[in-house]
Amino acid sequence: MAENDCLVYLNGDYLPVGEAKVSVLDRGFLFGDGVYEVVPVYGGRPFRLDEHLRRLDGSLHGIRMANPLPDDRWAEIFNRLINGEHDQYIYLQVTRGAAPKRDHAIPADVKPTVFVMCSAIAPIPISGVCAVTVDDIRWRWCHIKAITLLANVLLRQEAVDRNAAEAILVRDGWVTEGAASNVFAVIDGVLTTPPKGNDLLPGITRDLVLELAQENGVPAVERRISLDDLKRAPEIWLTSSTREILPVIELDGVAVGQGEPGPLWPRMQAIYQAYKQRLRMA
Ligand code: PMP
Repeated sequence: MAENDCLVYLNGDYLPVGEAKVSVLDRGFLFGDGVYEVVPVYGGRPFRLDEHLRRLDGSLHGIRMANPLPDDRWAEIFNRLINGEHDQYIYLQVTRGAAPKRDHAIPADVKPTVFVMCSAIAPIPISGVCAVTVDDIRWRWCHIKAITLLANVLLRQEAVDRNAAEAILVRDGWVTEGAASNVFAVIDGVLTTPPKGNDLLPGITRDLVLELAQENGVPAVERRISLDDLKRAPEIWLTSSTREILPVIELDGVAVGQGEPGPLWPRMQAIYQAYKQRLRMA
């Protein structure tokens, strides 16, 4: 199928992506006033759907919006857009909608804009990636999955400019997360990830990794990670819905551990893939 024929959902209609149009007065366009979700789909089924929809509720609540659709309606839209059994992901976006005039304050009686599309998941570079550390210049409500991603865009580009796949963000000497991922590091033999708070996104993959670690007897803890500890860690991983558990093999130009995925990674990777497989078969 040509890219432009791909079917998307926009405000109640299913139409080819090239025909989906939004007003220039949409507050998503003018202010970045909206939130989004990315839900992976394996074997034709959305993965951790409840968790993603609950996080969507949280993000909407954080920007003073109500969820425009009930869960079963979201699921119906996703199922209509899912195309076959290959690994794909649903992208959904809710903006505050188009108001008659441009004003920062939230307008009354505006209909939200609801957009959903489904895309193939790109191959994951499981042999490992390079990352760089950068100053976390973002706003202080990073727990909201807001479409306002300019800081993340610039930070990721800084990583790309330095031949790295991801920027690991550091605020006041403490690791927060990646530009589009959560961060794990093995510290004194314990899998460690920063605790949830306003300075990072409560990643669905992050939570699943912690859950699977506990179920499988892998020592894991939610604890702040200093930049010094990160630099000394023998293993660093990035987690996200579309990149799963990605080993970092080089940080700021220096090898992490032996410069290849460390010993805990294949174990957690096997546990994670087995979990995905169980869900595919369920
Ligand atoms: N943090 C940020 C800033 C992200 O953009 C993402 C992924 N979109 C994540 C963490 C990972 O979240 P999840 O595991 O839910 O994809």
